[in-house]
Amino acid sequence: MKDYIIIDFDSTFIKIESLDQLLKTTSAKNKDYLIKIQKLTDMGMNAEISFQKSLSERIKLLNSNKNDLDVVIDIINKNVSDSFKKNKKFINENNDKIIIISGGFYELIYPVVSKFGIKKENIFANTFIYDIDGKIIGVDKNNPLSKNSGKVKTIKNLNLDGNVIVIGDGYTDYEIKKYGYANKFYLFIENIKRKNILDKGDFLLKSLDDFIDIYNNE
Ligand SMILES: [Mg+2]
Repeated sequence: MKDYIIIDFDSTFIKIESLDQLLKTTSAKNKDYLIKIQKLTDMGMNAEISFQKSLSERIKLLNSNKNDLDVVIDIINKNVSDSFKKNKKFINENNDKIIIISGGFYELIYPVVSKFGIKKENIFANTFIYDIDGKIIGVDKNNPLSKNSGKVKTIKNLNLDGNVIVIGDGYTDYEIKKYGYANKFYLFIENIKRKNILDKGDFLLKSLDDFIDIYNNE
């Protein structure tokens, strides 16, 4: 049976939240503003508010242009999680099994994960909508990932036939297993430890090394 390794992006593949980094880089940097962004992200990830609400509120705060993306991609490239950097070879060698499913944005994900050999067609993420001047004005709402339980809908549409393993740090990652579309959910705690889902993981991964150990011994 084929294995599929579903990997989250924000706070898993990378140390930070990519949309928040875009907000921080391109918007007013006052302290209240930064606290507000952090709160919206945390509330979304902890399922205190819906993902859709957390995303749309953050998009509303955004004051960014297409040209700003390169600066943010540079920052994200420098913030790949240590154990992912270390295990570039494993990722590359398993690129036919690895699928990135993220509530983040394709524009910020592809340039980072493609360096690890992850295939374009194996990346599922949101995309921005721009106005005629290139200003980001929204998110493509036709994409299920912009909605609540978007990861569940995305994996359902993929119709994977095999052993599905999910690696992620948030509630939306856990939901894939909760609704029966994954055999295992490994909670990734290298970057952040979200208390409300600590008991939801089949195993707590302190790093990608932990996963590789388990995977190679199964
Ligand atoms: Mg995440």
